[in-house]
Amino acid sequence: MTWRRPATLWNRHDFDLGVEKIDGYGIMYDDSTFPPVIREWRREHMNVDYLRISVTDGCNLRCIYCNPLGCANLAEGAGILRCDEIARVARLCAQCGIRRVRLTGGEPLMREDIVGLVRRLAGIPGVEDLSMTTNGVLLASVAEDLKEAGLKRINISLDAMDRDCYRRIAGADALPRVLDGMHRAIEVGLSPVRINCVVMRDVNVSQIEPLAQMSVRLPVAVRFIEYCPTTRLTGPASCYVPTREVRGMIESRFGPLCDLVLPDAGGPAVYFKIEDAVGAIGFISGRSSMFCHRCTRLRLTSDGKIKPCLYAGRYYDVAQLLRAGADDEAVLSLLRTALREKGRSTKLNAAAGDFLMQQIGG
Ligand code: SAM
Repeated sequence: MTWRRPATLWNRHDFDLGVEKIDGYGIMYDDSTFPPVIREWRREHMNVDYLRISVTDGCNLRCIYCNPLGCANLAEGAGILRCDEIARVARLCAQCGIRRVRLTGGEPLMREDIVGLVRRLAGIPGVEDLSMTTNGVLLASVAEDLKEAGLKRINISLDAMDRDCYRRIAGADALPRVLDGMHRAIEVGLSPVRINCVVMRDVNVSQIEPLAQMSVRLPVAVRFIEYCPTTRLTGPASCYVPTREVRGMIESRFGPLCDLVLPDAGGPAVYFKIEDAVGAIGFISGRSSMFCHRCTRLRLTSDGKIKPCLYAGRYYDVAQLLRAGADDEAVLSLLRTALREKGRSTKLNAAAGDFLMQQIGG
């Protein structure tokens, strides 16, 4: 596979795609420079079946890799989509083939109407799988209600098992509450429960082993995510630790990882397990590898914009349409345009520039 130099560089961060060192995450390629696998994927009709909805851009943590200043543009304002608006977009997306919906943020559990929203989305014909990504701080008291309302599974961000380390990363002394939330989620039968850990050099590398250890005795999939610098605020690219290094640390402590095929995988993670472990280990290698060719996600931001790709500069303003009184046909037409655009979007032709994960939902 050969790569040509990018035509335009949009950002100063380094990226190692495992093929060739490339500078910048917003790189403009012309079509002929795409590797064959991506060209092929673009020719096929993509089966986009996954909608990731950011339900708020407000958060009760200030994670250093996500939003260290705790900025939220809209949380207090009228810009956030209402519950009925989110449900309408999700219903129309289901008519376009969306089968899986994930709620994220900001912190989704900060929305007071979150259980009602889950109930509405779970009742949409065609939506077969409803999940959530949360920091877990508010989870313990609401896990049972979420399950009863129709939530199937949950991802919990947990970057350290050491209380001080957790506090330094998240800006709050909340580790015991997150662990309570995780245990409660397991108890009420949200399944699978997945743990997301963003690995950063000089920050939480020491936590890889205790987090991996958790998968030995608990039915959780502990996933190690390559840190992706998105703004100057979130720290330098040098904090990035490639998956192969993380895997090496786990294997030198627990022995070789065994391959694992999870029935409901299908996302960017690749799964393994420690021998005889109850749970799994996953890796999400957003920087050292490229999984655009198997990405089937659309994103809906908390202020009602459809993004075909996390890194896309272009978006489709569905909130504006809804609020102008558009009928379903007009909204469907916008969604179909976004779906067509999805077939052309990859992180290599993206132009988002700097952004906060919290505003898009990760
Ligand atoms: N508040 C929720 C939480 O903490 O999980 C949901 C929002 S958070 C933006 C969603 C996901 O984005 C988290 O699992 C986190 O690991 C991931 N994320 C945020 N910033 C990231 C970064 N700079 N690099 C890689 N992953 C990031």
